[in-house]
Amino acid sequence: MSETKTPIIVWFRQDLRLADNPALSAAAKTGAPILPVYVLDDDNAAEWKMGGASRWWLHYSLSALNDSLDGKLVLLKGDAFVQISALAQDVKAQAIYWNRCYEPWRVRRDKIIKQTLKDMDVSIESFNGSLLWEPWEVLKSDGTPYKVFTPFYRKGCLSKEPPRKPLPVPKNMAFATYKNSLPLAKLGLLPTKPRWDKKMEQYWEIGEKGAAKALSHFLDHGLDNYKEGRNIMAGDNLSRLSPRLHFGELSPNQVWYGSEEVGEKKKLQKDLDHFHSELGWREFCHGLLYYFPDLPKKNLQPRFDAFPWAKNAKHLAAWQAGQTGYPVVDAAMRELWETGFMHNRARMVVGSFLVKHLRLHWREGEEWFWDCLVDADLPNNAANWQWIAGCGADAAPYFRIFNPVTQGQKFDADGAYVRRYVPELKNMPDKYLHNPWDAPAEVLKQAGVELGKTYPRPIVDHAEAREKALEAFRETKGDAPE
Ligand code: FAD
Repeated sequence: MSETKTPIIVWFRQDLRLADNPALSAAAKTGAPILPVYVLDDDNAAEWKMGGASRWWLHYSLSALNDSLDGKLVLLKGDAFVQISALAQDVKAQAIYWNRCYEPWRVRRDKIIKQTLKDMDVSIESFNGSLLWEPWEVLKSDGTPYKVFTPFYRKGCLSKEPPRKPLPVPKNMAFATYKNSLPLAKLGLLPTKPRWDKKMEQYWEIGEKGAAKALSHFLDHGLDNYKEGRNIMAGDNLSRLSPRLHFGELSPNQVWYGSEEVGEKKKLQKDLDHFHSELGWREFCHGLLYYFPDLPKKNLQPRFDAFPWAKNAKHLAAWQAGQTGYPVVDAAMRELWETGFMHNRARMVVGSFLVKHLRLHWREGEEWFWDCLVDADLPNNAANWQWIAGCGADAAPYFRIFNPVTQGQKFDADGAYVRRYVPELKNMPDKYLHNPWDAPAEVLKQAGVELGKTYPRPIVDHAEAREKALEAFRETKGDAPE
């Protein structure tokens, strides 16, 4: 136990929880008073400062964390370098502990803070609280990063030591206090007018306790048949844990071992393996961004630099608003707007539609998702947009173009997803729900649908758009796909 009474600052970042928090546990172990702090650092994040939906989530997650810390969480705003250095001096901190982050801007910033504080005789300890395996632990035998998922996961991850077991909430923590903390409202995270966030409140219980409930719900109801069921857009097999993992209300270790326990007990090996591999994709994306810091902006495959992207503000607006005339695309875009979340299969369908049917740049989609998703995550968002556009790592080939009608018929066969988010089509019979333009006039009339009036006609024709996309792809490459 430490003799000194000077505090250890525990800097919370993407680890807004008490359980399985290695930095917090290590600080508690020293016996020194803990000063927990969060800094809203838009200055260093710059163009990657959080979007609207993430800021909304963060507000409530910080509020929940503060409650768990008996109201002791210190809130600051501004360049973390300035804020953390000033705080350390002010409270005469002996040390600062944090869990590592992997986005390029955070890595850059943290390196500078580490050096500066060391020069001020404040010791820094950093820990792994957000990944199962850190990027530098999973490299090929020649020391370079993997660009293909299966060897990354099978050879790189699974052949390593199993991930660390989760830690309990530390006992007997003593907290230091600081009088200049900002009130939460001063961070300005909630929207003012219009209060678009009101509609999202019903869908989420934000914070560590809500995250634990969401994990148990998934383990009780979603893991069984996850491998197949995860594709059904209105199904209950998804965990919806992505915002929890992004903000660190849960660690991947808690999710890994929690699912392992239930999966093995219920003999759900195939579902468990598949679920674990999805956590593996999260690790893969983090590694990609770590080693290719331009991933959010630059095609990983440079041959795509010559792709003749279209510019069409009308098409972009129709896509964003869920008014493309393709029911499954529109349902997905409206799910995003209403809940701050979108089903994974739906993300692939709307992504493909944007970059292939509309030939709009994947960065347009990346930016919209960044603003609207509660799980907006720089590595996952960038890597998946590049994947769907065909220009990323281990990417879906550009010429594989999702047909939004057959995707709907296959993964929303009973139409529950479309009927929920596109209520103007709710009375269409299943046969025409995903392709209302094919319905005879009397069927449309009976369903109360007037195409072009109550619901848009398709903004592009599928077959024509597909041909144009393939043509554009041939131009960039020279060698035509079959
Ligand atoms: P589950 O199926 O329950 O999976 C469990 C966890 O595994 C997820 O919470 C997530 O952390 C991870 N995971 C699952 N699929 C992927 C994947 N393809 N890539 C990386 N990690 C994955 N995910 C984000 O977290 N943030 C984003 O900003 C994001 N943007 C995306 C953009 C596009 C165009 C696409 C196609 C996918 C994107 N994803 C993103 C990945 C994926 O869609 C979500 O992680 C998933 O839908 C979250 O739902 P879930 O928690 O129910 O997933």
